[in-house]
Amino acid sequence: MAELLTIDEALERVLEHVRLLEVEDVAVEESLGRVVRQPARAVVDLPPFPSSAMDGFAMRAAETPGEMRVAFRVAAGSAPPGPLPVGSAAGIATGGTVPEGADAVVPVEIVDDRGDVVVIPVAAGGQHVRPRGGDVHAGDVVVGAGTRVGAVHVGALGAAGVASIVCSERPRVAIVATGSELRSPGESLGPGQIYESNRRMIAAALAGSGAKIDVLPVVRDDENAHRVALEQALDADVVVSSGGVSMGPHDLVRRVTADLGVQEIFWGVAIKPGKPLAFGVRGATLVFGLPGNPVSSLVGALVFVQTALLALQGHANPAPPYAPGRLAAALRRNPHRDEFVRARRLESTDGTVLAPVTGQDSHMIVRAATADALVHVPRGEGDVPAGGFARYLPLD
Ligand code: AMP
Ligand code: MG
Repeated sequence: MAELLTIDEALERVLEHVRLLEVEDVAVEESLGRVVRQPARAVVDLPPFPSSAMDGFAMRAAETPGEMRVAFRVAAGSAPPGPLPVGSAAGIATGGTVPEGADAVVPVEIVDDRGDVVVIPVAAGGQHVRPRGGDVHAGDVVVGAGTRVGAVHVGALGAAGVASIVCSERPRVAIVATGSELRSPGESLGPGQIYESNRRMIAAALAGSGAKIDVLPVVRDDENAHRVALEQALDADVVVSSGGVSMGPHDLVRRVTADLGVQEIFWGVAIKPGKPLAFGVRGATLVFGLPGNPVSSLVGALVFVQTALLALQGHANPAPPYAPGRLAAALRRNPHRDEFVRARRLESTDGTVLAPVTGQDSHMIVRAATADALVHVPRGEGDVPAGGFARYLPLD
């Protein structure tokens, strides 16, 4: 293995090889999790008319306080019959159109509604009136390019009258697991065999990134079986394999992908777990060879593959979503590799405290499942002290 790349160097090389996917129109109701590629613009002013923020009465603030004739009452969903006559008030529902001439609304709780007349206390101009276009104007951007659509965007697009948006196509991901020792849960284990867990885990780790995921059958450690499976996987935009990228005689993934025309960009990252991670390209297809230990595969998927998937879709900030926290206990730094330590998040009034779980070996996926954070411990000498700053990736 040549000199190990740092995580940032490795991510940079991955991003250099990303070619943006095509775009397509997507109905807003189908767009959750998709990355917007052309700014989506408001169809209407929002609110589309001056509207009342309260159930109450609309009038001219300058004419308050006083007793006024009730000229008409405005329900939500219909227009006022005309401008508000001088010296009068209009009953109005929340969301009702404030009639022309009125410039304030007084809530129903503080008026004396006598039917034909209403007694109104003093009001300030503009109070409880939501001006037309106060949220957005027609033609203005509602959701910008590079945004991944979340619930708030679905709401904003709907409110602004947008029916469909231009998004990236979804990346097609093929997941391959290698290893003659692997059996499916439900089968019985023979000597030397273990249950296969990485394919579904990797698929789950990538599910939130908008990918279309194809989970292929497990491949035994045989060159021809590798060739057949990887050739099929290479139809996808992104290939993710697990296992078979270390130095052993049965580690065939790098050799076979090279035979299939994959150009290796790097092999080996200064990361623990997950050091022998391999990355290559064939045409526009990105090929990630993740090491087979389950925690190594998980870290590789979250740090590298997820970033690539967001970048392929044109996400404005595809980098791993680190959040800040403090360590509950000192952690020894690794002199050579950045570590991802599995920890539990404890929320306190002054932020997140990260308590490492016991069982940090890369095969200990069940111990990892007691954690909800991957704490990034930069390589170096000595300790990160208890109470010291650490950033983490959420595991949930
Ligand atoms: P490898 O990277 O192929 O050398 O595998 C490293 C370790 O991870 C070995 O103990 C494998 O048995 C285990 N392993 C590899 N692939 C999987 C998988 N898909 N599910 C669970 N464990 C795996
Ligand atoms: Mg193997």
